[in-house]
Amino acid sequence: MNYQEFFRSELDGLRAEGNYREFAELERRRGQFPQANCYNGPGTVTVWCSNDYLGMGQHPAVLEAMHDALDTTGAGAGGTRNISGTTHAHVQLEAELADLHGKQSALLFTSGYVSNWAALGTLASRIPGLVVLSDALNHASMIEGIRHSRAQKVIWKHNDLTDLEAKLAALPANAPKMIAFESVYSMDGDIAPIKEICDLADKYGAMTYLDEVHAVGLYGPRGGGIAEREGLMDRLTVIEGTLGKAFGVMGGYIAASTELCDFVRSFASGFIFTTALPPCVAAGAAAAVRHLKHSSEERSQQQARVAEVRARLDAIGLPHIENPSHIIPVMVGDPVKCKYISDVLMRDHGIYIQPINYPTVPKGTERLRITPSPVHSAEDVERLIGALEKLWAQCQLARLPIAAQ
Ligand code: PMP
Repeated sequence: MNYQEFFRSELDGLRAEGNYREFAELERRRGQFPQANCYNGPGTVTVWCSNDYLGMGQHPAVLEAMHDALDTTGAGAGGTRNISGTTHAHVQLEAELADLHGKQSALLFTSGYVSNWAALGTLASRIPGLVVLSDALNHASMIEGIRHSRAQKVIWKHNDLTDLEAKLAALPANAPKMIAFESVYSMDGDIAPIKEICDLADKYGAMTYLDEVHAVGLYGPRGGGIAEREGLMDRLTVIEGTLGKAFGVMGGYIAASTELCDFVRSFASGFIFTTALPPCVAAGAAAAVRHLKHSSEERSQQQARVAEVRARLDAIGLPHIENPSHIIPVMVGDPVKCKYISDVLMRDHGIYIQPINYPTVPKGTERLRITPSPVHSAEDVERLIGALEKLWAQCQLARLPIAAQ
């Protein structure tokens, strides 16, 4: 086999489908976000698609904590958690996270992806006969974790309680079950009916596994997510989150009972056989978590900015999914136009919004996913709306609002 030829032809296939990924090469500068330097673009750009939802990746408290930890403890952890890599910073961060979610314990992983993959994979492979009921729109990391476990998987229609109940009822009453779902779904920005899902879990004797990756730091009086906002944290078996989005740093975690965390700690290869996060990363993440437990300012500013962008889009008739979250999917509905708008926004307007096309979203629902943050100014909004209006007209795109799906 000519391996290089194989790689080239696979990549050509992606290009032909319009699915070949090109990265904007950015450099975020301290204190200047959402402005960033784009090395393979027009120079300075305003970033409108970052998951550093609150700008915590540039927050002085976070940077100071990281500097301090770097200066005092050095660069890396020096080992896996089991072999010399558990530092004081990791233990403190796990305590902050357990407290954030009102759980007995928390367990850190190197990313949110790894936490889902390792925790779900371990639970599903080690609990004899466990059936995982997985929301149809669950993130790839959950899907991979379940697949890897080889446990029986039942997919229920997205956020559909009737379908979930039918699928629970069809399983043997005594089969161990786990319902895996997210709170805020990242592409449509819709929110799961957590309470009703917990009610069904109780009725059918299932555990619950909630991914709050797009909600931690952003919702609830202390940034504990949608479950905190709705007073439901104690009803969830596992709450999973990331330190890489609203907390602005990197890493993932689960929060749960002492026994469950200890079980995953003891059996998950994705936890055991990998170098621990650098202590300065853990220290920075802990500073972000601590800050957002005590300050709601960033959350309210973000929500005000989101409302403002939505109102401005409504005023010029640009279709976007109405949802109760901070994610604004502006619907283009055509992969070529979506990419074109993104390219011209970057080239002519210094605005960076990555186009979201199939397979990330279904064909015909191609979109620009906009994530306003407290660090976007009124002037940034003005320029965004002006540029979008111009491009919408140029691409002859419909201005009728389309319904949430
Ligand atoms: N869960 C969901 C729902 C996500 O969207 C993502 C990342 N986009 C992850 C988990 C993985 O988190 P991380 O980026 O920290 O690996």
